[in-house]
Amino acid sequence: MILYNTLGGVKQEFVPHEAGKVKMYTCGPTVYHYAHIGNLRTYIMEDVLEKYLRYAGYDVLRVMNITDVGHLSSDADTGEDKMLAGAKREHKSVLEIADFYTKAFFSDAGKLNIKTPDVVEPATHCIPEFIEMISVLLEKGYAYLAGGNVYFDTSKLDNYYVFGNMNEEELQVGVREDVGEDENKRNKTDFVLWFTKSKFEDQELKWESPWGYGYPGWHIECSAISIKNAGEYLDIHCGGVDNAFPHHTNEIAQSEAYLGHKWCNYWFHVLHLLDKRGKMSKSKGGFLTVSLLEEKGYDPLAYRFFCLQSHYRKPLVFSFENLDNCVQAYNKLVARVANLKADGAPDLEAAKPYQDSFREALDNDLNTSLAVTALYDVLKGDISDATKRYLIADFDRVLSLGLIEAADKKAAAPAADVDVARIEELIAKRTEARANKDWATADAIRDELKAMHIVIKDSKDGVTWELEQ
Ligand code: AMP
Ligand code: ZN
Repeated sequence: MILYNTLGGVKQEFVPHEAGKVKMYTCGPTVYHYAHIGNLRTYIMEDVLEKYLRYAGYDVLRVMNITDVGHLSSDADTGEDKMLAGAKREHKSVLEIADFYTKAFFSDAGKLNIKTPDVVEPATHCIPEFIEMISVLLEKGYAYLAGGNVYFDTSKLDNYYVFGNMNEEELQVGVREDVGEDENKRNKTDFVLWFTKSKFEDQELKWESPWGYGYPGWHIECSAISIKNAGEYLDIHCGGVDNAFPHHTNEIAQSEAYLGHKWCNYWFHVLHLLDKRGKMSKSKGGFLTVSLLEEKGYDPLAYRFFCLQSHYRKPLVFSFENLDNCVQAYNKLVARVANLKADGAPDLEAAKPYQDSFREALDNDLNTSLAVTALYDVLKGDISDATKRYLIADFDRVLSLGLIEAADKKAAAPAADVDVARIEELIAKRTEARANKDWATADAIRDELKAMHIVIKDSKDGVTWELEQ
């Protein structure tokens, strides 16, 4: 498989440390609010990557943290703790907030068919691991104490800016909300490993440590949780592109200083979901959640379909108009699958070329939109219905669009007898009639379709249809 690696900024052949095995780490949600559909774009694409690696035969171990302490309102370590701000907003304790939004995250992820990683660790469960790692960094001279806090000394590294290929604007994302310089820092890029003192004193969760009663910085949690569960050599580290700097840069700095060797070979970053105001973000408010989409009548899987149709390395602009088009396409896809006859054995030989093009698409830096095209090619293909169903179920191990389940549900429902082939035949005849200016025939066909509860829409791009609501 070829993957784009932010480390080096090139597409590379993916080769794990240990043949046949992949160790993968994902930055988990900061559970002070609902995940928005931008966050979930990142988790959907990471889910596709994990599932594709499994599909390709790798034994995958995927680890994810839950940030329930230490993530300040700026990704540089200044400002108020996001968890504390969430607790204040809702007049609850930090742990209540964490518990509520962790459950909400997994509920939303479930609706999007995102698999729960093999290991999920809340940061508050790993305080001894953070303390051990910080102690080693101090011993090795990579960290220093100042003003009651422990800092990582970035000047001790030959190359701190490991993602040097990223442009200035991307590098600035993480520090944009900075609320002022910390005078204790020896270098501007130094970051806090352990706080006992901050401008915001009323931190609710604190622990004893060799450096005083306090709490960990955000970056240390991902390094420690990854090393604890996935060992010293990580194959792929994932996250949204805003995490590349400073969060991932700091993770690399402290992990490699601690381990004394290179830590992770491939860095997989998903570009942002944008709305009219730019990057969708929790702190800006007014963001969209899965529940909001559901309230508006959208199936969350239509949003997954929307995400799969564009490449993870391109920013994706969200609009309801685009989502509506996806809903239509998704429903049509389900209707076509529902129309396949389930009987008979698949022809595995005939299936192979289709599987090859599906793999070719995903092997090329996870090109999900081409993988979706491969799915459409199956439906168009000159192969038996049983082979088509087999292939759709096979591809859905990765795409997770729930196509077979949705199709079977549709087939079992009263409105089951939607004859897609017949509908398309009628639409083609109507198009021909219109081209011949035979309006009477065209209108008669429209009426016939209406009687079948099919609504057709003419647009400059052609004719689309949907079931009457
Ligand atoms: P958070 O819960 O804020 O820690 O973010 C969870 C994940 O969502 C991280 O990997 C972020 O990089 C990612 N993320 C944040 N905003 C967006 C966005 N607008 N589009 C895509 N991913 C995002
Ligand atoms: Zn992280």
